[in-house]
Amino acid sequence: MKVFFDTVGCRLNQAEIEHLAGDFRAAGHDIVDTPERADLVIINTCAVTAAAASDSRQKSRQAYRAGAAEIILTGCLATLEPGLDGQLPGVSRVVSNQNKAQIAAMLLGREEYFDLEPLARTPLPGARKRTRAFIKVQDGCDNLCTFCITRVARGKAVSTPKEIVLREIQAAVAGGVQEVVLSGVHLGSWGIDMEGNVTLTDLVRYILANSEVKRLRLSSTEPWGLDERFFLLWQDQRICRHLHLPLQSGSAGVLKRMLRHTTPGDFRQLVATARKMIPGVAITTDIIVGFPGETEEEFAESLRFVEEMEFAAGHVFKYSARPGTAASRLPGRVHGKVAQERSRLMREVLQRSAASYTEIHIGQALEVLWETAVEQKNGNWLLHGLTDNYLEVNGLADSNRCNKIDRVKIRSHTAGNLAGEIIL
Ligand code: SF4
Repeated sequence: MKVFFDTVGCRLNQAEIEHLAGDFRAAGHDIVDTPERADLVIINTCAVTAAAASDSRQKSRQAYRAGAAEIILTGCLATLEPGLDGQLPGVSRVVSNQNKAQIAAMLLGREEYFDLEPLARTPLPGARKRTRAFIKVQDGCDNLCTFCITRVARGKAVSTPKEIVLREIQAAVAGGVQEVVLSGVHLGSWGIDMEGNVTLTDLVRYILANSEVKRLRLSSTEPWGLDERFFLLWQDQRICRHLHLPLQSGSAGVLKRMLRHTTPGDFRQLVATARKMIPGVAITTDIIVGFPGETEEEFAESLRFVEEMEFAAGHVFKYSARPGTAASRLPGRVHGKVAQERSRLMREVLQRSAASYTEIHIGQALEVLWETAVEQKNGNWLLHGLTDNYLEVNGLADSNRCNKIDRVKIRSHTAGNLAGEIIL
């Protein structure tokens, strides 16, 4: 059978779809790069914002129009709206998050395949091709952030045992992967449901001690519960100097209404510790503007705080009410035009700090993992890749260096990208 996988939303969805593809490959099926050629299309949907939900529906319709013989939807939107098979053409099954790990066994009816040693993991073909492997180490969340539909769709926090995580990482490394990204709904809560007070720090130490992975990156980590022991992990240079800490708002009042376990003061302290312990770290974030009841003063406070934090990059989301969340019942809806303007101002601040962070690297030598390579007419290769601290770099080489790590002297900065020369 030919199977096409697609996903919307977060890195956890990407990790899951890569894992599912591995199940189908292990059972002898082909993973194809377009829905046109597929007997089966599986889409891991997202519901985090109204736009992500609409994108998920759109992908399903596109797969149908492309002639996919059968479509299965899973993920957060599929969990929250189990009747999607009656609404979207070509959808034969809707599988909840709770059952998605069994999709291959459910369809193929051959559970024994999945007791085999994992195959060397190779990237998905086509648009989902990545040189990085996303590995799911945790699902669900026990917090109650009032805007968050993900915790509703994903349920309680569940950690993947460290031995299983290691096995997946070893399979990825055997498949030629240079960089592994640990992913979860609330990554920092890894271990909370396990015996013996184990934490994410213990998991990362175990991975570093037992694998040959060249680069290990942590995906989004909630900005609390990270102690000094956690930051000592960066003594091992294989851990990428990048922390994505979703602040969501820089206003103390809004953070309280969001039921976040942080305040601007605590966040400031955390960022100071991270910068002290991890020189050159890129700290990136997510910000919501137009949360219910966000006043002009609160927005101004948030904007000032975001400016002060000098983030290396950030995503700005206009608040969109998700049915089933506490925030969707809060009074004080912020008018669309006001939210739009706040989004523009917040983006400007983040773009400025991102440009400053990028520019300080001109003249430095950085390690770049090349993610794409395009052959030029003169026989050279145009390369594009990422540093460990999440800077995008362009370079040239006389051979295809895709999926290789090179030391690059950074020469210039244009339109968000750095350009440099390979020096080793
Ligand atoms: S900690 Fe993250 S996943 Fe958990 S409820 Fe809050 S926003 Fe959602």
